[in-house]
Amino acid sequence: MTGRPVVLAADAAGLDRAADLLRAGGLVAFPTETVYGLGADATNGAAVAAIYAAKGRPSFNPLIVHVADLAAAERLGVMDARARALAARFWPGPLTLVLPLRPEAGISPLVTAGLGSVAVRVPAHPVARALLAGGGLALAAPSANPSGRISPTTAAHVREGLAGRIDAVIDGGPSAVGVESTIVGLDGAAMLLRPGGIAAEEIAQVLGAPLARPAPGAETGAGAETGAAGRPTAPGQLLSHYAPRGQVRLGALRALPGEVMVGFGAIDGAFNLSPSGDLAEAAANLFAVLHRLDAMGAEAICVAPIPDRGLGRAINDRLRRAAAPRDPHPRPGA
Ligand code: AMP
Ligand code: MG
Repeated sequence: MTGRPVVLAADAAGLDRAADLLRAGGLVAFPTETVYGLGADATNGAAVAAIYAAKGRPSFNPLIVHVADLAAAERLGVMDARARALAARFWPGPLTLVLPLRPEAGISPLVTAGLGSVAVRVPAHPVARALLAGGGLALAAPSANPSGRISPTTAAHVREGLAGRIDAVIDGGPSAVGVESTIVGLDGAAMLLRPGGIAAEEIAQVLGAPLARPAPGAETGAGAETGAAGRPTAPGQLLSHYAPRGQVRLGALRALPGEVMVGFGAIDGAFNLSPSGDLAEAAANLFAVLHRLDAMGAEAICVAPIPDRGLGRAINDRLRRAAAPRDPHPRPGA
């Protein structure tokens, strides 16, 4: 795997090449004004699964989708008056809005981790904007670093961290902000999900009301990966997890009476996450299969063993949460 990532110049030829790689399902790191992002086509589940594999992420957190402009954002999420006011004031810029997902948006469920909401941002960096606009792309992009390491602010950081694991990096010089985007939840009461590049006070001023904060002890999502230096990591950012309604039994070799079986590899079932036993394919299919189990009203579900390596760790993490006794989470989309 020598020669990867290819370093692309931030010129027309480099951006064309990057867009081609992304459209083909590749992984391309690109500069934003916060940090370098590791981008994949958000409509391509296999490409999004590859982000998790490249970063070695042990769990599926939903990813932020980067788009060129307001119109592209509106195609993905439902923007109310609050969302439009914040977008008018802070986009392009380091503000991420969590919006009700439009079902017709075409975003892979792996991007939203099965949730009924989508996190969207219009980055300000000219190279990111040119890539998104020129390619007509919606890019799922977490920070371009291995899980647990510091977020990268130069192309050299990206190469050091992800050599051999991604296709290309666009060298756009150092990122200016260096801290991640502020995340505001707007799929209910306006809530500060992660502090970041834009101060909560400025956001509250536009909204004309203070932002709610997640309850202490709420499950952590945003920022959980690096515990970003210099920022308090607790209280956690509110992130409900999608889990199917039915009871889930793991490590099953065959279905018991009344169970709907989810297979993997040679252990088949009513569904099979990957008949060939490919963990990336299984990751890409995971949330769609869970939603189909709900749609068919499955009350008892069993899942074949998934190898606990690579992407299998993140799949098993999510399945264990689905199988655990339920907390009184609100149902996503409910
Ligand atoms: P990062 O990995 O730095 O890009 O962080 C992305 C973070 O955005 C995740 O960890 C989530 O906490 C947050 N996020 C993304 N999508 C959603 C969503 N649909 N609902 C709530 N939080 C989200
Ligand atoms: Mg990160």
